[in-house]
Amino acid sequence: MKTIGVLTSGGDAPGMNAAIRAVVRTAISLGMNVKGIKSGYSGLIHDEVVDLDARSVSDIISRGGTMLYTARSKRFMTEEGVLEAVETCKRHGIEGVVVIGGDGSFRGARDLSNHGIPCVGVPGTIDNDISSTEYTIGFDTAMNTAIEMIDKIRDTAQSHHRCSVIEVMGRHAGYIALQVGIATGATGILVPEIPVDLDRLVKKIVEVEKTGKKHFIIVVAEGVGGVDKIAEYIQEKTGIDSRATVLGHVQRGGSPTVRDRVRATQMGNAAVHLLYKGIGNRVVAYRRGEIVDFDIFEALNMIKTFDAGMIDVAHETAI
Ligand code: ATP
Repeated sequence: MKTIGVLTSGGDAPGMNAAIRAVVRTAISLGMNVKGIKSGYSGLIHDEVVDLDARSVSDIISRGGTMLYTARSKRFMTEEGVLEAVETCKRHGIEGVVVIGGDGSFRGARDLSNHGIPCVGVPGTIDNDISSTEYTIGFDTAMNTAIEMIDKIRDTAQSHHRCSVIEVMGRHAGYIALQVGIATGATGILVPEIPVDLDRLVKKIVEVEKTGKKHFIIVVAEGVGGVDKIAEYIQEKTGIDSRATVLGHVQRGGSPTVRDRVRATQMGNAAVHLLYKGIGNRVVAYRRGEIVDFDIFEALNMIKTFDAGMIDVAHETAI
């Protein structure tokens, strides 16, 4: 391949810039040209394509967000939309595309591959909810941002003998909540993968209170939601002043951690090597300490198991 494109799609995640940089620099090192496609599949349909050189991606490795912008495109989910995207690729001589995003973006990459433009997916989402990989770009930074915020909330919860119920991101997945809950010593962690039992939680708070504990952190995944109601319920049942906080989009931003920068660089690099060899319709993944790749169809059909045992670890240590 002589010319490849790169785009970011779906929700933004810190480390996407590091992945873009790796794609551009690797491609140039291998003697290929790189086109940046702005605003995901929408930019591919509407011909928002720019030339990228090694200097175009200077000073972005430390920045959150994505220099190429990201978007969700309904039109791309239609046959006409995919054909328009293929036309744009042909117009610019784009022979393969690196797609940085989540599962939805990989479905788009599969469609584009099936229409003759080989694509390689790179997992970029803070939620870490992609089945084929143990790690997604942005997860580590989002968790670090969340624990920084919760540590601050803990200071005030401690001063006022309060219970803080805090929603962290994770639309359908509790991975952020689980790790962040453990890292902040939360008394309770509520995730969408496990049925919520508020009475059990209340019982635990009451038991722990008897041992002298005066402040409580409850971490709730976005996919469970309803933090206001949960706080009200805890207050009503325990008499402990309870407050709800939604951390929200602050978790998406900020300078990526070392882990996100390094994984993003490795994955971006691996994606380009595949396209360089003419291999498409693949997704790059991180498994057991190694960067590997899978057929997109196979990757999309994998099932990610939730480590419920970690909830027990949290339960037994937050007493
Ligand atoms: P995240 O979940 O982190 O936001 P994502 O990549 O899963 O990332 P989606 O909004 O699901 O985010 O998908 C991004 C874009 O990928 C969509 O706007 C659409 O253009 C394309 N896409 C999603 N699902 C499909 C599908 N089933 N077929 C074709 N294209 C799809």
